[in-house]
Amino acid sequence: MKVVVLVGGVGGARFLLGVKAALGLPAIGEPQQESGHEVTAVVNVGDDVWMHGLRVCPDLDTCMYTLGDGIDTEKGWGRVDESWSVKEELAAYGAEPTWFGLGDRDIATHLVRSRMLRAGYSLSAVTEALCDRWRPGVRLLPVTDERVETHVAIDAPEHGGQRAVHFQEWWVRYRAEPKAHAIVPVGADEAKPTPAVRDAIAQADVVLLAPSNPVVSIGTLLAVPGFRTALQETSAPVVGLSPIIGGRPLRGMADACLTAIGGVESTAEAVGRHYGSRQDEKGILDGWLVHTDDEADVPGVRVRAVPLLMSDVDATAAMAQAAFDLAQEGR
Ligand code: GDP
Ligand code: CA
Repeated sequence: MKVVVLVGGVGGARFLLGVKAALGLPAIGEPQQESGHEVTAVVNVGDDVWMHGLRVCPDLDTCMYTLGDGIDTEKGWGRVDESWSVKEELAAYGAEPTWFGLGDRDIATHLVRSRMLRAGYSLSAVTEALCDRWRPGVRLLPVTDERVETHVAIDAPEHGGQRAVHFQEWWVRYRAEPKAHAIVPVGADEAKPTPAVRDAIAQADVVLLAPSNPVVSIGTLLAVPGFRTALQETSAPVVGLSPIIGGRPLRGMADACLTAIGGVESTAEAVGRHYGSRQDEKGILDGWLVHTDDEADVPGVRVRAVPLLMSDVDATAAMAQAAFDLAQEGR
């Protein structure tokens, strides 16, 4: 079976562990033998940013390290057994930004990536090269090779109004505390999905939306114009999993993002309706999984309630299986 999963960082990576396990593949690393299954993750690039001359791709790296068994599982990002000498040395120089840290091991990944990008390789090619080492057992595809960076408009009384900051600055430095008036995937309008992404969607047997942030992870993928069209045109069923449980995001601050894009409520129903039915002009869903006890009425979409807590790989695999089952129902 060819499975395509739309993902952000931590939530997406955890969900991918479950997708692999549900297919009988080892959750971590490469499948031992030919399984007949192929998992492709289309990964958000809107969090990407240049820092200290290095290209940082938080969601791609979180997926790669998680599935390659190199992740710091406590933090959910960065390398396990990390040290921070470079960060301390940069701080001693007063080199900005001091609010953003890359660990020493992680910096090696960033040096390889940045050198390859400067030599003219695409982000897709660079990601493939990095995955040669990490062997995530899943094809990790950036949604586009063009530059798309999410920016956030926040209050800036000192500037007499508002100012735009990179999403990372709002999220990591300011903990999403200043109210976001707008969240804009800068560059998305002119970007296009890579041919590999388009082919993967067109040839998929099923497409799943991980329970990733609906605005700055999945929303940024959908902002790339040809990507939404590819989802609408594929013959594969498209099933999403709700990241909102009991009226709030499980981890992180996704509610702050939902408010910013025009007051989408933090409920499973509101997010399902925001994605919309594939029977409608702009919608993308055939099925929508919500957490037990949550309810959602999404016109034109089959909705089921099942446990959606990714507490361990088995629980996450059961979520993926429920998504496969819901996809089958419509066939
Ligand atoms: P990020 O890029 O690292 O922020 O990660 P993602 O966008 O991939 O995922 C973040 C989202 O995952 C948050 O909005 C959470 O609500 C959601 N999430 C985290 N853990 C769980 C879980 O166990 N179950 C569900 N349903 N959603 C979760
Ligand atoms: Ca992210």
